[in-house]
Amino acid sequence: MLEIKLDLPISGSDNKTIYDVAIVGGGPAGLTAAIYTSRALLNTIVFEKLGTGGQAAITDHIENYPGFPEGVNGFELSQKMEEQARNFGTKFEFSEIHKIEKDFTKNCFILYSGNKEFLAKTVIISTGTTPKRLNVKGEQEFWGRGISTCATCDAALYKDKVVAVVGGGDSALDEGLFLTRFVKKLYIIHRRNELRAVKILQKRAMENPKIEFIFNSVVEEIIGENKIQKVKIKNLITNEISFLDIEGLFIYIGLEPNTKMIEHINKDETGYIITNENLETSIPGLYAAGDCRYKTLRQVATAIGDGALAAHNAEKYLEHLECGNVK
Ligand code: NAP
Repeated sequence: MLEIKLDLPISGSDNKTIYDVAIVGGGPAGLTAAIYTSRALLNTIVFEKLGTGGQAAITDHIENYPGFPEGVNGFELSQKMEEQARNFGTKFEFSEIHKIEKDFTKNCFILYSGNKEFLAKTVIISTGTTPKRLNVKGEQEFWGRGISTCATCDAALYKDKVVAVVGGGDSALDEGLFLTRFVKKLYIIHRRNELRAVKILQKRAMENPKIEFIFNSVVEEIIGENKIQKVKIKNLITNEISFLDIEGLFIYIGLEPNTKMIEHINKDETGYIITNENLETSIPGLYAAGDCRYKTLRQVATAIGDGALAAHNAEKYLEHLECGNVK
């Protein structure tokens, strides 16, 4: 495996190794990219904040990922992907990259993590998304203490209790259906009277006797003493205010891209990175893959396709690169 040392005056920079490929984010897109680039004998490092797998790792049951007719546990699938990348020689660094810059004079990227700096010739950003918050009174107070965005992690805490989900997309219904294995009763509060989720999830949720929908309504406040006791709900058609007794609230109102670590790059108005069909961003040598880029379908299957394509194009880019005057 090729490791090039460069005499750049960079403090704390991982022994000044210049990685061929730095992958920021170890979800399905990043892990796939790592499998491909490591297998192509490119010196590859994956940066991951906590554990690999991203949103997929906290999904109990993925049933639309091909090859698993019974469905597959997201955590187990992610672990296998990580193992596969390690087998090909990918290095993993469990730390958060908070800034990425390109040194155009040396044609290299600098990735900053705390007081450490890492160098790479190409970067693939596959940082995924973070669940959005409601931004209502009580949310901050009860976050992690009755409010959750991860049914797989927290459902067991609500055995035989009454809980509510906010949202009408795939996440709300998928996670809501999972919650019904534990809870006594589940309300799904949605701001319209039409759901956004795919039809098969809608059908299952409608047929589930534990689920009751509250349509055309939004949560305005989360109320309780020490723990959640109720939510204040407003009907958007009638303006009527009501209170719903619950012990837990799961919020699935969409996702925000984790792309703040890179500036001076084309993004859409909500922060998703804009790429071309080769997954190149507006900065040469920088690619985006998976949920953090602007696209129409965010699934494990599409993330994996992105990872492979970004890796392939990074490899082609490296064939013609003069980086840091070392090639
Ligand atoms: P999403 O598709 O953006 O849906 C967000 C839902 O929250 C929508 O119903 C939206 O209402 C509602 N909402 C947004 N802001 C709100 C607010 N401030 N207050 C109340 N409600 C609000 O997000 P998602 O469900 O997390 O899905 C994200 C992506 O992951 C999608 O591409 C989805 O297909 C994918 N995903 C797929 C699966 C699967 O394949 N099984 C599972 C999970 C996620 P409106 O409908 O009125 O806009």
